Amino acid sequence: MAETETAPETEAVGEGEHDEKSPQEVEEAQRDAEKKGDTKPGQRAEVSNLDIVKHYFDIAAEKLELPDDLRTVFWEPYREVSVQIPVKLADGKVHVFSGYRIQHNGARGPYKGGIRFHPDVDVDEVRALASLMTWKTAVAGVPFGGAKGGVNCPAGELEQSELQKISRSFMDKIEKVLGPTRDIPAPDVNTNAQVMAWMMDEYGKLHGHTPAIVTGKPIALEGSYGREAATGRGCVYMFREAAPHLGMTPSDTTFVVQGYGNVGSWAARIMQQLGCKMVAVSDANGAIRNDEGIDASALQEFISEGGKITDFEGSEAIEPDDLLAVPCDVFIPAALGGMIHEGNADRMECRMIIEGANSPTTPVADEILSEKGVYIIPDVMANAGGVVCSYFEWVQNLQHFRWDEREVNDKLGNVMRRAYREVSARGKQDKLPLRQAAYLVGIERVVEAARIRGYI
Ligand code: NAD
Repeated sequence: MAETETAPETEAVGEGEHDEKSPQEVEEAQRDAEKKGDTKPGQRAEVSNLDIVKHYFDIAAEKLELPDDLRTVFWEPYREVSVQIPVKLADGKVHVFSGYRIQHNGARGPYKGGIRFHPDVDVDEVRALASLMTWKTAVAGVPFGGAKGGVNCPAGELEQSELQKISRSFMDKIEKVLGPTRDIPAPDVNTNAQVMAWMMDEYGKLHGHTPAIVTGKPIALEGSYGREAATGRGCVYMFREAAPHLGMTPSDTTFVVQGYGNVGSWAARIMQQLGCKMVAVSDANGAIRNDEGIDASALQEFISEGGKITDFEGSEAIEPDDLLAVPCDVFIPAALGGMIHEGNADRMECRMIIEGANSPTTPVADEILSEKGVYIIPDVMANAGGVVCSYFEWVQNLQHFRWDEREVNDKLGNVMRRAYREVSARGKQDKLPLRQAAYLVGIERVVEAARIRGYI
């Protein structure tokens, strides 16, 4: 829903008939998968990202007493584009990848959401992430709808020239549904400022120089100061808001990071600047631990120069499965979805989880952790810093004007603090955990916008 224009010629993915599972069925499916041993500690849960987001959407829709017809309107995506991306790789063969752009809801503004390059990308994952973006932009109060994109390529194994071919080809195939006032992509897992630069350039060949077509661009190409660090910085703003309520002070706070990419490494460096101590960290290559502290900046430099995390001097390599069991005050998942599940949630020894990643915690794990008294700051609010700063980048691009980094970070802080305070006030008022409160706030704002526009 949400746009009144005629849909351009795009291929629909499926028939929009997504699995309609009740929360109980979702949990049963997850328990079955986990009991069958399909989900081992340290691995992703078998429950899909789509089931996770649907579970939380349904709880909120129930509480809001949203009628069934409106639930369909606000759950189903407005438009799904599926494309074939044939690319000749260095082995001389043509490899065919699948690319998706899914626009979930545009009632509050142009669609907005990242593009992920990962072999696990499929239509359901993109649907889930697109829906999450709709609620996230609403919770943050930035004037965007929700979308997501992805290509199922093994980005980690590809050369830069191959990634460039995929990025350009993907843009060629989806540009008809994009535009600075229609849909504005950004980076996500395995995509970065360079990928955004290629995509902007490709779009420019057809439409003329259009920096506002993507955000998360390099500074040299009208990117925004502060954007690269924004998602991690936003997580730290969440910590600063929540810490006093849990009696935590930065100098006494230890933390663990799962996934040391853009979000994880920036969150770690900024937590460290505050005075907190990182005691364990992992990425796709392994995990390390040092109770005396791991230098977040030195580790980032080491990895960016090609070092393997487990070779980082002064730390002990541990089994990735054991990362979650390292005692700490704050655990920051910043890798993929479904990493905290029924098979490992019980082992966690933290007081607070700040979800840098999208959908890192399955519904059953969420329940286990809540019973243990762990304070969870949910993805839909915690990692909104990226899209908030993307909004700033878009505003700067439209004005052809640049703000300095301090201004960007201050504005980011204002938005993140406001989101935290509004959601936590709603949680207190309705006696709900933050995640449920955030979904309520997000869905209400989208429904209100749709009503005022006259869509429903
Ligand atoms: P990235 O590609 O920069 O980093 C991902 C990191 O996760 C890498 O260090 C990778 O090695 C690691 N990883 C992959 N599999 C792992 C595993 N099994 N165990 C431990 N680590 C593993 O991606 P990113 O942009 O930092 O995104 C990370 C998460 O944050 C994703 O869930 C993404 O959707 C979410 N997110 C990103 C942004 C953003 O602005 N980049 C914004 C909001 C949410």
